[in-house]
Amino acid sequence: MNKYKPIIGLEIHTELKTNSKMFCACKNDPFGADQPNIYTCPVCLGMPGALPIPNKKAIEWTIKLGLAVGCQINLFSKFDRKHYFYPDLAKGYQISQYDLPFCYQGQLNTSQGVVGINRIHLEEDTGKLLHETVDGKEVSLIDFNRSGVPLVEIVTEPDITSAEQAHEYAKNLREIVRYLEIGDCKMAEGEMRLEANISLAKPGSDQLPNYKVEVKNINSFRFLEQAIKYEIDRQTKILDVGKVPVQETRGWDAENSRTFSQRTKEEAADYRYFPDPDIPPIELTSQQVELIRTSIPELPAEIRARWLQEFNLSENNAQQLATNQEAVSFIENLFKAAKNQKIQPNDLANDLVNKKITIEWEGSAASEQQKRIVESILNAYQKLHQTTEIDQDDLDKVIKQVFDENPDAVDKFKSGKTQIVGFLMGQVMQQLSEKPDPSQLRQRIQDLLA
Ligand code: ZN
Ligand code: MN
Repeated sequence: MNKYKPIIGLEIHTELKTNSKMFCACKNDPFGADQPNIYTCPVCLGMPGALPIPNKKAIEWTIKLGLAVGCQINLFSKFDRKHYFYPDLAKGYQISQYDLPFCYQGQLNTSQGVVGINRIHLEEDTGKLLHETVDGKEVSLIDFNRSGVPLVEIVTEPDITSAEQAHEYAKNLREIVRYLEIGDCKMAEGEMRLEANISLAKPGSDQLPNYKVEVKNINSFRFLEQAIKYEIDRQTKILDVGKVPVQETRGWDAENSRTFSQRTKEEAADYRYFPDPDIPPIELTSQQVELIRTSIPELPAEIRARWLQEFNLSENNAQQLATNQEAVSFIENLFKAAKNQKIQPNDLANDLVNKKITIEWEGSAASEQQKRIVESILNAYQKLHQTTEIDQDDLDKVIKQVFDENPDAVDKFKSGKTQIVGFLMGQVMQQLSEKPDPSQLRQRIQDLLA
C-alpha cells in the first residue's frame, strides 16, 4: 500500500452528437466526412467578422447531463473567449465558459465513494492537426471538420483516491452520456478525451499538496488507469528522497506505458478570458430547467438497483442488459411476461447474456411487434429448457437398448477405450426427437456403464 494519499481530479471532454456544430449550421460529423475541410464555413474557420449563434440543443443537452449528475444550474450564464495560440485554433481563442458554467456542484457515485463534480461547461472543439509526408516532405495539415463541434467539459473535485476509482468514475460518466443519447463517446475517434490531475499528500496531512501534475492526451480507460499508477510511483520516489515533484503538464506515452514531461507551468496560464461580445448572455427560467429535468429517464445505476429487487437479477446480468433506453423498456416487458409464465427473469437473463437465446430486434419496434418478439423469446426459453429435462426413465430405457444393440462398443468402453462413448451418444441421439444436453447424456452413459 502506498504511504502517501493520492489526490486525483479528472477533466473529461466529450463531444455532443447534435446535427449541427456549436455556433454555426455546419454538419457535426467530423469522423464521417470523407474529405477534410468540407463541413466548414466562415464561423468555424474563424474568419474575422463571422458571427457565432449558439446551438440551443447543445445547451439543453449540457444542462440535461448536469441535472442527471445532480448539478445546480446557473440560470444566468455566458460564453467567454479563452485565448491561446495553436494552429488548430484559427481564431486565436476558443469559445468556452469561464466563471458562469451552465452546471456546477454535482456528484457521481463509485463503489469507492462519491466523486464531487465541480462544474460542467460547454465549449467548441478545435480543428485537427495531421502530421503527414507529402512529396517526401514532412508537413502538418489542418482539418477543420471538427472545428466548432460542441464539446462538454466535466471537471471533478480532487476526490478520487485511486487509479481504479478514476476508471470507474469515467466509465460511469460515459454510461450516462450514452444513455441520455447526447453523445456516443467513441474513445478511438477522440469523441471522449481524458485528463488527470495527480498529486500525493503526506501521511497524516489534511492539506492539499503544494504541487499538481496534469497528464493529458489519454484516450482509453485502461491508459487512464496506467497513467495514474505510473504517476503515483514516480511521485512517490521523488517525495521519498525529500524533494517535491515539479508542477507540470505531462503526456501519456502509450507505447512505453509512461508519462513524459511536456511543459512546466511556472504559473497558471493566462488565457485572458473575457465575455464573448458576439454572444449575448444565456438566460434560462427555472421552468425551462424543470422541463429539461422531466426529460431525463431513469438512469442505468437506478435501473440496475431496481432490477436486482424487482426481478432478482444478478449484478452482471443487470449490467449487460441495461444498455440503452429502448433495450431497457423492452427487457422490462420481457421480464414481466416471463414472471407471468413462472419463468425466473434471472434464468432468462442468463440465456440472453450467454447468447443461448438471441433477441431478433433492432432499435424501435411497434408494441404489436414487441409482443410477438417477447412471445418468441419465451417460447425459445421453454424449448431450450424442456429438451434438457427429458424423463430420466425414458432416457435410461433408450440408452440400455443402445447397449444391447451394440455389445462390441460396450466391451471396448469397459476395456478402457472410453472415447467410444461418443459413438454411443450418437446412437442414443438418433432415437430421440427431443435432444438431451450432450454433457449430461455423456455423464449418464458413463454412469450406466460403470
Ligand atoms: Zn461552420
Ligand atoms: Mn476545455
